[in-house]
This record gives sequence, structure tokens and C-alpha cells, in this order.
Amino acid sequence: MGKCKDITRLLSDALERNLELRERLAVGAHLPTCSGCRNFRRHIGLLRAASRAMSGIDDVDDAGPREQ
Ligand SMILES: [Zn+2]
Repeated sequence: MGKCKDITRLLSDALERNLELRERLAVGAHLPTCSGCRNFRRHIGLLRAASRAMSGIDDVDDAGPREQ
């Protein structure tokens, strides 16, 4: 539990579905210990924001980087 390959897959899945509680717990336990997966999450978050912006959905009120 908590392997980076599994965690990054869950982070990707989270963009398209709600994670189960145990999945969220696994991510929550792993991210504080792993800068690589935190960077991955930040990166895919930016990708999602970019794709939403390009799709014409105008609900993004600030285009700048957002600290989490
Ligand atoms: Zn990791």
C-alpha cells in the first residue's frame, strides 16, 4: 500500500471519478511523505485546469498558479 505507481494512478482516477474512502486514505497517507507524488498531483491539476479552459468552460476566475 502506498506505492508511487498506485498513488499516481489514483490521482489520475480522481480526476474522473470519486475515490473510495480507502483510496483517499492511501493517497492522504502517502502524499505527505513523497514529493514526487505531490509534484505529480500538482502537474495533473494544472493539466485539468488547462483542458477546462480550452474547452470553453468559463468558470476559472484566476488563470495564475494556485498554491494548494
Ligand atoms: Zn510517491
